[in-house]
Amino acid sequence: MREVTVGTADLAAYQQVLGPERSATLRSGAGRLAALLAGRTVWNVNSTAAGGGVAELLHSLVPLARALGVPVRWLVIDGDAEFFAITKRLCTLVYGSPGDGGPTGEAEREHYRKVTEANAADLAGFVRPGDVVIVHEAQPAGLVPAAARLGAKVVYRSHTGCDTPNEHTARGWAFIRPYVEQADATVFLIPPHVQPWAPAPQVVAPSIDPCLPKNVALSQDEAVEVLRAVGALAGGAADGGPVTVSPGGGPSIELRRPVIAVREGDPPPADAPMVVQVSRWDRLKDMAGVLRSFVAADVPGSYLTLAGSDVTGVSDDPEAEEMFVECRREWERLPTELRARIQLLCLPMADPRENALVVNALQQHATVVVQKSVAEGFGLTATEAMWKSRPLLANAVGGLRTQVVPDESGLLLDPTRPDGAAGGIARVLADPALADRLGAGARRRVHENYLPDRHLLQWGDLIETLVKEDDPDASAR
Ligand code: UDP
Repeated sequence: MREVTVGTADLAAYQQVLGPERSATLRSGAGRLAALLAGRTVWNVNSTAAGGGVAELLHSLVPLARALGVPVRWLVIDGDAEFFAITKRLCTLVYGSPGDGGPTGEAEREHYRKVTEANAADLAGFVRPGDVVIVHEAQPAGLVPAAARLGAKVVYRSHTGCDTPNEHTARGWAFIRPYVEQADATVFLIPPHVQPWAPAPQVVAPSIDPCLPKNVALSQDEAVEVLRAVGALAGGAADGGPVTVSPGGGPSIELRRPVIAVREGDPPPADAPMVVQVSRWDRLKDMAGVLRSFVAADVPGSYLTLAGSDVTGVSDDPEAEEMFVECRREWERLPTELRARIQLLCLPMADPRENALVVNALQQHATVVVQKSVAEGFGLTATEAMWKSRPLLANAVGGLRTQVVPDESGLLLDPTRPDGAAGGIARVLADPALADRLGAGARRRVHENYLPDRHLLQWGDLIETLVKEDDPDASAR
């Protein structure tokens, strides 16, 4: 287990986005919580410092909470390949999907227990009685009892779930339930994910960070410059040397690593309409389904970019490479003319800020953003695209259904009709006024609901309740 070192956020930048009233509410809520904690630390425990929604959230909330004076820290567990294969299976099961079809029996329990035990020994070096430990997802779920034994108040934060429980969700939850049941509280993304047996369940939607390179404002020209620099659009410098950009006038980011691209011929031209899905290479994200929908939409002159993390870069996701290869095979079977309008990109993960900026530029540059997930926890990629005022076409599953008000802040697709995305893509590409209206609605929706102030204040309320359970006089200090 290791601690992820994070700095503190620049509060002035957040104030600009949130405005004076929301900023003041955030500051006073954080001040109250810091006083209440009085020497206690809030620990987050998850399985990776980069890649995927949980890491994304922690990179936003931890520095912001620290800047506001709340003592929050972040630990990442260790595990071997077998452990992460088991936990990946568990997450996929909780999403309601059979995943790799592998077992979750005694042998898997035993291995999970062993890895958990090693991490629990490390945890004891960090956590003190009275601290609050937030355990994120199935990978570290086994640490809930260990943290409780150390005298901490423990919250299990679920980031996955299924709208309609089935035998797979039952199997996934059955594996981690004995641990999660021992938490003082549980937090879910959306109401349908709440488990009936979960201790003190709450629903807290996540948020995106408007001030980090992933979501900071980029002009259309800046987005094109970034995408050219990494070879995702045509027109990059012939020498391919590093390009430095300062998104939104903020700290500069050097673009040194070109994307790894599967494509036919040159990169797409900057002035062509572009359909984009950014996701991990995961079967539940249905990248191949987006490819088929794009082909079926058959809009001349339009391009498709499917972009995901470099498959060698995400240690807790052993299936990524297989999913990428599957998608590439579908692409290879297409006629040349179509292959030339579809690129599959693997985005290098070595520098998280560079990666974030490229994702930002792809979303900003998109004419339409698709999120065709067959199951989704919340779907931060959708929130990110909505923040950039992009028209979003999302499958009506999980948090995507919560985020998108149909025909106001995006279009929702019927998950029982996988071919529906094609019509949606064609419709939005053909109607710029619709795209603008949906984009504006999307931006408003995120501004009102999915920024970090609301998120941190909800966590503050929960932590306050837990601390007071232990020490009813805490608030009087
Ligand atoms: N992401 C990224 N680089 C990539 C692919 C994805 O930074 O190459 C980020 C993406 O921008 C989003 C997160 O990973 O912030 C994925 O979160 P989401 O909730 O959409 O799905 P999850 O991966 O947690 O299932």
